[in-house]
Amino acid sequence: MKQLLVATSNRGKFGEFKAMLAPRVAELFSLADFPQLTLPPETGRTFAENAIIKARHAARETGIPTIADDSGLEVDYLGGRPGVLSARFAGESATDGENNSRLLLELMHVDRKQRGARFACCIAFCQPDGSCLTFSGQLAGSIIEQPRGSNGFGYDPLFLVSEYDQTLAELDSTTKNLISHRAKAFQRFLEHISTGDF
Ligand code: IMP
Repeated sequence: MKQLLVATSNRGKFGEFKAMLAPRVAELFSLADFPQLTLPPETGRTFAENAIIKARHAARETGIPTIADDSGLEVDYLGGRPGVLSARFAGESATDGENNSRLLLELMHVDRKQRGARFACCIAFCQPDGSCLTFSGQLAGSIIEQPRGSNGFGYDPLFLVSEYDQTLAELDSTTKNLISHRAKAFQRFLEHISTGDF
């Protein structure tokens, strides 16, 4: 693929995307290459709607095919919350630590069996003409009672991957990049671009 803009302002996520994309894209741009570009607010009700809002706007403004993702944590006991509000669970400009504390508070006294959760991701791939495709991925796990590990970002220290008996923050980034919701959505996106002339 010749050119691709990754429209995310989250540095943790851009790092993950870059690691997965570097071998396949000749010229990879980030939002740092377009300081004048601001992304519209995420007003969608689903991960797909939000991903499309961001990628379509950036592709139209820059003239470069663009991917944007929207992702978040869905907790069974909370009826799928925080969902699209994951980044803002504890308030508009909440830190990861504040969001994690809010999650632990809401799950206080909830036993392990009811702490099932999943990370979900949708990647939108949009062209400058406004046409878009979406690709989704999920990772199932559960929310533990105390944070563990220091890798990753967001809810990683609270998200236990049962297959490894480790949180996402305890797993190394190579392993996370193989199993994560973003990696799965990404794999689907890569399969798509490998079948066409981009
Ligand atoms: P987004 O930037 O609107 O997609 O918001 C995603 C939010 O969901 C992040 O700020 C994190 O709180 C959470 N999140 C998404 N993916 C991950 C992940 O891989 N690990 C931990 N938290 C994540």
